[in-house]
Amino acid sequence: NETFTQGRPQAQAATGAASDSHPLVELTHVEKHYGALHVLKDINLRVNKGEVLVVVGPSGSGKSTMCRTINRLETIDSGDIRIDGKTLPQEGKELAALRAEVGMVFQSFNLFANKTILENVTLAPMKVRHVDQKTAERQAMDLLSRVGVDTQANKMPSQLSGGQQQRVAIARALAMQPKVMLFDEPTSALDPEMVNEVLDVMVELAKEGMTMICVTHEMGFARKAADRIVFMADGRILEQSTPDEFFENPKTERAKDFLSKIL
Ligand code: ADP
Ligand code: MG
Repeated sequence: NETFTQGRPQAQAATGAASDSHPLVELTHVEKHYGALHVLKDINLRVNKGEVLVVVGPSGSGKSTMCRTINRLETIDSGDIRIDGKTLPQEGKELAALRAEVGMVFQSFNLFANKTILENVTLAPMKVRHVDQKTAERQAMDLLSRVGVDTQANKMPSQLSGGQQQRVAIARALAMQPKVMLFDEPTSALDPEMVNEVLDVMVELAKEGMTMICVTHEMGFARKAADRIVFMADGRILEQSTPDEFFENPKTERAKDFLSKIL
């Protein structure tokens, strides 16, 4: 079971202690505006190797924006974002290399519609990492079997269910051997009966030591898999605590209000 965690030391951060001289992901005083709208306000976040964060909060609180800044799909106004100790460059080859260390899975499955499932998974390793086709296909089949869709390898995305497509999207992200995986509401667009098949894959990944930042409203998953819950509202991180602390004893009125609406 090494493909998910290839090239990385095992999880060390379940205790929350620094596993290394620096956190794997580190946001410091991050600020972002969309025009007059202040969407990220003094965001400070440190994620250690092997840690699983679940980010929750009301709609519009900046969860997606924060995720997107972590791999530079969005720029920031000020502050600093480091992946494995390195600040993300603004552009160029170095950005592509660092971005490859951050896998991302979105709400919409956004697979390449005109490519087969197998091609969806082999494309980036071949193009960006210059892996030869045979090796890329072998690794892709291994990943597809781990997420349970290897029998679909030669089909087109539209022939798969939403849950299967989302599992392919996870395999595709893992094919780049990322150091951290970001999930932005990966099950919100799914029919209810398909939610668990995707969450199960995420729980497996977490168990295998993948560092994960997950925006999700699936509180069962949060309780099962999260080392830490990050609660955001109005562009700020208001609470960071263990699932037990957060669910049993939220500190802020905003979190109490949020929990009363979703639980
Ligand atoms: P969440 O994921 O917590 O629901 P978002 O990060 O998507 O929140 O959005 C935070 C705020 O930023 C919202 O008010 C949203 O309308 C606004 N916003 C998000 N993306 C853009 C954009 N590209 N341009 C302008 N405003 C945006
Ligand atoms: Mg969002």
